[in-house]
Amino acid sequence: MPKVKKIPQRQCVGCREMKDKKSLLRVVKSPEGTVSLDFGGKKPGRGAYVCHDVECLRRARKSRALERA
Ligand SMILES: [Zn+2]
Repeated sequence: MPKVKKIPQRQCVGCREMKDKKSLLRVVKSPEGTVSLDFGGKKPGRGAYVCHDVECLRRARKSRALERA
């Protein structure tokens, strides 16, 4: 039996890299258009994942990638 667990991979909306969920930050866009970080993972609204990186966050907002997430 392999001991390696499968880690769910998510794509960062900033740099488009696949990373495991734990190393990504969940960002949620509310219906009002506010983008906020979801640390608990329980916020309603559209969720997307982005690196712990200011550049990725900025790019995610700028590219409006959240609209599609
Ligand atoms: Zn990224």
